[in-house]
Amino acid sequence: MKRDSIWNQSFEDLARWCRHEGLPAYRARQVFNWLYSRNAAQWQEMTDLPQSLRQRLDECFSVDLPHIIHRQTDPEDGTEKLLIQLTDGKQVETVVIPRDGKEDEGFTVCVSTQVGCTFACRFCATGRMGLVRDLQAGEIVAQVLLAQRLGKAVKRVVLMGMGEPLHNYENVSGAFNILCGKEGLGWSPRRITCSTVGLVPEIYRLAQDAPGVKLAVSLHGTTDQKRSEIAPIAQVYTLDRLFEALRYYHERDKRRISFEYLLIRGVNDGIRDANRLVELLRGLVCHVNLIPNNRIPKSEYTRPSGQVVTRFVEILEKGGVTVTVRASKGRGISGACGQLATESRSRESITTMDV
Ligand code: SF4
Repeated sequence: MKRDSIWNQSFEDLARWCRHEGLPAYRARQVFNWLYSRNAAQWQEMTDLPQSLRQRLDECFSVDLPHIIHRQTDPEDGTEKLLIQLTDGKQVETVVIPRDGKEDEGFTVCVSTQVGCTFACRFCATGRMGLVRDLQAGEIVAQVLLAQRLGKAVKRVVLMGMGEPLHNYENVSGAFNILCGKEGLGWSPRRITCSTVGLVPEIYRLAQDAPGVKLAVSLHGTTDQKRSEIAPIAQVYTLDRLFEALRYYHERDKRRISFEYLLIRGVNDGIRDANRLVELLRGLVCHVNLIPNNRIPKSEYTRPSGQVVTRFVEILEKGGVTVTVRASKGRGISGACGQLATESRSRESITTMDV
């Protein structure tokens, strides 16, 4: 009999299972405590559960986490990229980033939400893979747990790895439920940032379902035509529709929205682009992260010069927009924005590690 993964169960799911098995409700709480507070790796470790219950849990649920099969550290900034093998053999990448470059400030984990992605943004290595499959809720949370088991003090999670989080809405919601649930990791939603290429219907849903989760919108262009060239889904979700949804999101949550703007030489880095961006963002409480393009193989996109980046920043600042130029962590290991993909990795380069 195929067992479900315990990591996909919400606390409510497990409480329901306990009721069905004729068990008292506190058993679900005990199991969650072992899983999320005491890092149990085997049912047999849960010594305050009766042996018969441990056996029954083992019959119904697997407690295995996905495996880290390769670790690579960027010597420049300490960013670590993990290649993670899921139970069906598919692989995703997770990036563990020291906050402000200092390990004692804790870590941000950049998690993947899909194997591949269907949206084919032109700067993105993941987009070249096409969508292979969605990650389950437990597979998303597992990336955080694996980082913790490597001894990393995880302070924040950003859903900016492989895949478009809002295109895997149910599983991403399930992951939020475990990360923020009192019986799960008990985090404040403010520690989570969800990125999106701009899926308008799901932005409305997220505003209702996950108050407090920060939103980071990949903008990359200031006209529908330019955005569509870079991120083809912008043909469907035009700037008008997108900004209407963002104003709704902001109204509900009163949180500042982040915009990711990839600066691509000669494509979207001109003076007119910067001025249009100022106009577009007028009246919205927001922050812009400028990301000089990280080159991926076979891409014609390159990064602008430092002077062009500085000029872009100056125009935004003069227009009253809060802006930072994101130092791309992990460039040396292809772990930076837009560079994650698993299809072309040679098997020979993979080393099995015990974690
Ligand atoms: S940038 Fe995001 S939405 Fe676009 S192809 Fe890459 S993973 Fe998908």
